[in-house]
Amino acid sequence: MTWINDFNKEITPFLIKNAPMKDFTTYKTGGLAQVLALPQTQEQILYLKDFCQTRKIPFRMLGLGSNILVSQKGLEGLTCCLKNYQGTEINGTELCAKAGTALDKAIEISVNNGLAGIECLSGIPGSCGGAVYMNAGAFNQETFDTLKSFKVIDTQGNIKDIYKEQITYGYRKVNGIENHIILQAVWNLKPADKQELLKTRRSILNRRAEKQPLEYPSAGSVFKRPQGDYASRLIDVCGLRGLSVGGAMVSTKHAGFIINYNNATADDIFALIRKVQNEVKKQTGIALQTEQILWGDFDTADNTAEK
Ligand SMILES: Cc1cc2nc3c(=O)[nH]c(=O)nc-3n(C[C@H](O)[C@H](O)[C@H](O)COP(=O)(O)OP(=O)(O)OC[C@H]3O[C@@H](n4cnc5c(N)ncnc54)[C@H](O)[C@@H]3O)c2cc1C
Repeated sequence: MTWINDFNKEITPFLIKNAPMKDFTTYKTGGLAQVLALPQTQEQILYLKDFCQTRKIPFRMLGLGSNILVSQKGLEGLTCCLKNYQGTEINGTELCAKAGTALDKAIEISVNNGLAGIECLSGIPGSCGGAVYMNAGAFNQETFDTLKSFKVIDTQGNIKDIYKEQITYGYRKVNGIENHIILQAVWNLKPADKQELLKTRRSILNRRAEKQPLEYPSAGSVFKRPQGDYASRLIDVCGLRGLSVGGAMVSTKHAGFIINYNNATADDIFALIRKVQNEVKKQTGIALQTEQILWGDFDTADNTAEK
């Protein structure tokens, strides 16, 4: 515990002790982060990583918390949130965005500059770093389609650019970047008609509002798409729409979402995830895998379905 008092005094204004993770995740629930850092510069991020690595303190990278369920028991160590590490730049057809920039903000800028290639991702509420880490996608477009490269701090503490051709990636996954810190993403976009792009963006935002329960806290689709099917369809045919545990419910608007409709705890959401997995497995034989990332300790008797 003594490490908490070891930080340089220059960094302490950017740290929050016992930070409620409900304030930093879109599920709006979960326990406390022992220390949450909100760095604004690359130097601060490097310092924090080095500080934790040297002392063997658990270290996690957080973007906008839109794909994470944090345990009610909280998070040991340091959680480094990049929401204040923002900025974009356009050079010709290239869009360069710092990792903490909201993806939707970057898309708005690309569209307003008549640049096509990420407009179908409109409305995804994550950061550019989170979008790269997850290869976020929607409406037949993925982050990596037009990504040129991204800048990282690797596990040795080196800053380097990784070009798309140097790695492999797939549906909601990028291989070999575990424990890397993404600092920046660079897309190489295509010139296109601005009015057409604006129309596409508006239509996608409308479709999201029509189909998704955006009026409640959630972390988007809970489960990965099983081969040749949709998790939401399977959940629906199993009659699980509206199923609830405590304050968590399978959305009646979109069965692929679990919503925090009434002060759900992370345990409520976790128990509901397991119930859905168990029931879908029982009725259809298909094992749904979570797309959402579980952080911290979810040690319950019912922690079985995904094994
Ligand atoms: C209403 C709603 C709709 C959604 N719709 C979609 C959709 O259509 N398509 C889709 O793909 N997703 C969707 N999502 C999920 C989510 O927005 C994406 O997965 C997004 O890319 C996560 O970004 P984030 O910044 O919130 O990442 P976080 O949730 O903060 O983190 C997710 C993972 O990325 C890692 N990470 C984040 N930033 C960095 C970084 N800078 N360096 C290294 N690792 C990092 C974290 O460690 C974690 O493992 C939706 C979520 C919501 C709430």
